Amino acid sequence: MTPSTSTEFYLDANATTPVLTPILNSVIDAMTDNFGNPSSAHTTGLLAKDLLEQTRIKGKSILGTKEGELLFTSGATEGIQTAVVSSISHHMRTANNTIDKPILMYGATEHKAVPNTLKHWNETLGLHAELMEIPVNKDGKLDYAFIARHVPQAVMICTMAVNNETGVMQDLFKLEEVIRKNNSDVSWLVDCVQALGKVSINMDAISIDYAPFSGHKLYAPKGIGFLYVRSGQPYVPFIAGGGQESGMRSGTENLPGIAGLNTLFSLLAEEEGVFYTTKQLEQHRQMLIEALLDTFPDVSLHAKCEESVPTTINFSLDHYTSKEIIDLFDATGVRVSGGSACSSGVSSSFVLEAMGFDEWQCNNAIRLSFGPADSTEFIESACTAIRSVKPYLSISDGVGDKDAHLLSNWQGITQLVYQNESSWVFASEDKEVLIVNPNPQLFPKIKRLINEDEMCIKTCILNSLSGNSKTLIENVKSTFGQSVCIYHHGDNQSSEVLLSGEHWEVRSVASKQGNLVCLYGKGETELSEQVLNSEKVPSPFDCEVGKTMVISNNSIGLYCEENSSMQNPCLANMNNSVELQNGLSAINWIKAHDAVVLDVREWAEHKASLHLLSKISQECATKVINIPASRLVNAVFEGTLSQDTAYLILCRSGKRSKQQIKAMQSLGFTSLANLTKGLALL
Ligand code: PLP
Repeated sequence: MTPSTSTEFYLDANATTPVLTPILNSVIDAMTDNFGNPSSAHTTGLLAKDLLEQTRIKGKSILGTKEGELLFTSGATEGIQTAVVSSISHHMRTANNTIDKPILMYGATEHKAVPNTLKHWNETLGLHAELMEIPVNKDGKLDYAFIARHVPQAVMICTMAVNNETGVMQDLFKLEEVIRKNNSDVSWLVDCVQALGKVSINMDAISIDYAPFSGHKLYAPKGIGFLYVRSGQPYVPFIAGGGQESGMRSGTENLPGIAGLNTLFSLLAEEEGVFYTTKQLEQHRQMLIEALLDTFPDVSLHAKCEESVPTTINFSLDHYTSKEIIDLFDATGVRVSGGSACSSGVSSSFVLEAMGFDEWQCNNAIRLSFGPADSTEFIESACTAIRSVKPYLSISDGVGDKDAHLLSNWQGITQLVYQNESSWVFASEDKEVLIVNPNPQLFPKIKRLINEDEMCIKTCILNSLSGNSKTLIENVKSTFGQSVCIYHHGDNQSSEVLLSGEHWEVRSVASKQGNLVCLYGKGETELSEQVLNSEKVPSPFDCEVGKTMVISNNSIGLYCEENSSMQNPCLANMNNSVELQNGLSAINWIKAHDAVVLDVREWAEHKASLHLLSKISQECATKVINIPASRLVNAVFEGTLSQDTAYLILCRSGKRSKQQIKAMQSLGFTSLANLTKGLALL
């Protein structure tokens, strides 16, 4: 049911889902025909009121409750606020409460909407309880002994039915036993956002006090949700006003959203309707897992199939970063996410950290999630699309396309970036490799590249500014071999050429700062006396010499991190590139400047989405070249890019191209334009 063209496979259903056609029709109907205000006394209002109440009845039936309340909210986040404010303020108002040091408990893998809400209202309402995270085991299950120990002091305990990143299900009846045996009064919230439509819910059979839901996670529109409240539980309206929802949640009801829920509830109640059975969903999961196993050599699944909902697969790959795979998938139309959509920008998964996964897995988790209405044909086509990335992954198995391989051909200079820090890899023609500033997070990737190209790491230069160099040295040796020769920046070694390629040399150069590691274009002269005698570590921008850069410190590499423009006066002036907002302005700029299109995405991404580029290139018959961001410096040293040429730089979202514009400006390129919103919005 997920809309897909033959080239697009949306596999991020835990972030949100599209609105199903029958749901959409009800939403439209509630905006056009049955548009009344449920509070109006006339017939139009009565019809709207009837729709509202019928939806409540259907919803309660889906939740398996006769006694409990169901309130319509804007989404789960509002439901969570309501439950937390109700519980805390009730506790504070109850004169005879016996807890002397109150605590608020929540699961370590809870969606951030829960702990952040607890923290906020704990402070704002002045409860000042201790916030306590309940640990989970390696399978993501809550620690029952911990709960039993602490719950007697708890005002509220918040757990979740299904985790949004891993799909791990909690055993709610077991939890109930532990919680109620030790505290029959504590407010118990269960976040059911990812459970609806995937696990059976029977509220009257369990003592859950509050359960928030969000419509958009299951084919209803964004901005509508509902909250289940157990009969007799404390309730404080979170939104006061005109007294709608019997005064429990004021504000004119979102009737189009509620109409959407009405149809969703009907669909959920159907025996053989649009939603697949658990058994069928398990088959869909199995098909996807097999596609992943066929495509990638080392897949680590982060949750046991029998412990998680079938619609979520969380995994990492041994030698590929999540970014590489997400970008490559995206170029082939497969949309997956890293960790949760809500925490995008945060690279490591706190959920996997809590489960005790290693750093690589936490940093490189990929979440693939589909909807319970996705058809078997859709899943089959998605599997084909996943398998289609295989030729881009490996050249060694003979299937790969040498030019389209993820970072193939990496002789010369490669700049790998991890969280704004660069590691530089230099590879000579005779396959000797020198690494400067090796970042352990990049080791699996470097190892993959080294092995595939049968290279050999001879020398490694550590950044003296980095923390624990002893551990780093051990890590380098155990990963790349005991014979790797390791230097620190500033080591008092004599000036020498450490490695040379056809167009460049890496030299150690004596300066006032101790020895610097510098990259020189072949035949370039030494750094000026002024630079060498400088009291401060020189930056590449201090050097008049054309192709010379100091690579002793990350913050002054040729790669210009976002924040370095603050420190570097040269960069501060470099803001004269052109920002192009759309395809038409890009085409006009290319024509006016006789420009070349420079795609800075990885080779594989470029090859996998050539059709996107053709929109621009066909229109203005220009040349398109592909130099991944990681190989830009190499291209400059090799002379592939010319300062006399104008370049329109692009990538998928406009982020990488923006960074490369800065780097190219620092290398003396002047006629540059950026496709600001990237190819995605072309
Ligand atoms: N809880 C869980 C488990 C979720 O996955 C989400 C959304 O990602 C939320 C709560 C918050 O839902 P909403 O943003 O729709 O209010």
